[in-house]
Amino acid sequence: MTHVIDGNAVANRIQNDLQECIDDLETAGVTPGLATVLMSEDPASETYVSMKQRACDELGIQGLHHELDPTAAADELFETVTALNDDPDVHGILVQMPVPDHVDRATVLRRVDPSKDVDGFHPENVGRLVAGNPRYKPCTPHGIQKLLEAADVETEGKDAVVVGRSDIVGKPMANLLIQKAPGGNATTTICHSRTTDLGEKTRRADIVIAAAGYPELVDGSMIREGAAVIDVGVNRVDAETEKGYELVGDVAFESAKRKADIITPVPGGVGPMTIAMLMYNTVKAASVQTDVPVTLP
Ligand code: NAD
Repeated sequence: MTHVIDGNAVANRIQNDLQECIDDLETAGVTPGLATVLMSEDPASETYVSMKQRACDELGIQGLHHELDPTAAADELFETVTALNDDPDVHGILVQMPVPDHVDRATVLRRVDPSKDVDGFHPENVGRLVAGNPRYKPCTPHGIQKLLEAADVETEGKDAVVVGRSDIVGKPMANLLIQKAPGGNATTTICHSRTTDLGEKTRRADIVIAAAGYPELVDGSMIREGAAVIDVGVNRVDAETEKGYELVGDVAFESAKRKADIITPVPGGVGPMTIAMLMYNTVKAASVQTDVPVTLP
């Protein structure tokens, strides 16, 4: 029987454990604070930010939300970030991507104080991850590590294939898998849009992590018998539903499930973990910045 990992259940468990950390911080007079900044009218970005703020409310994290007109000058965004850097009640800052074309993304990432960069995208934090000394692990790959751990998937000595080389998923995922640390020590291959014969690579893998943003790219014929398959993709495809679309992963679930021992669904797999790990990083940031120790899950 293939084990379908319930991402909501794992995320709830982590959030329950985080609640204890938040209670300890509260007892010491500290309320963790997360500021989200949105400079976009993209409905998906609006949804993501409101989900993050809702998670803050549920846990007793102080959520502060700043919305900027997408036509405003880039300096307005930079000044907002600087003010949040200087605000001692704000422990974590998240600028929702993408930002408008006239705002340089790399400059935004560099503006966030690295100690408040709970996304883990500041060059200093990327460097620390690559050097094997991560401060904040990027939320989606960290959530995947936690899912693998929850499903008792050993990574050490295993062959892993990451499909996708983005800065937010593919690259940090591969970096975590090669760390000399628990949840790492895997022999890791990164595949991308120029990879030839993707199936030949994925069929060799004990662990396949699909993050290409291409619906059902990886099917059962590309999976080795008994593999663990993690589907990061969230793709809208036209469907005769009320909304006119449905969400489909990067993995063809039914055919892959026939081969895999362990698989994540879409939705309800990786998605809930991304938010849980953002809460984790915010609690960690509050603890470090105030010198109040907590035991993170
Ligand atoms: P991206 O577009 O930035 O990167 C996609 C990567 O896939 C690229 O590096 C590209 O080289 C590679 N790729 C594209 N086509 C390929 C192919 N045919 N074969 C091999 N590699 C190919 O996307 P991203 O931000 O990394 O996101 C990937 C997917 O994950 C998207 O569907 C996104 O919506 C989803 N996502 C989900 C979560 C979550 O929390 N569930 C978080 C982040 C991203």
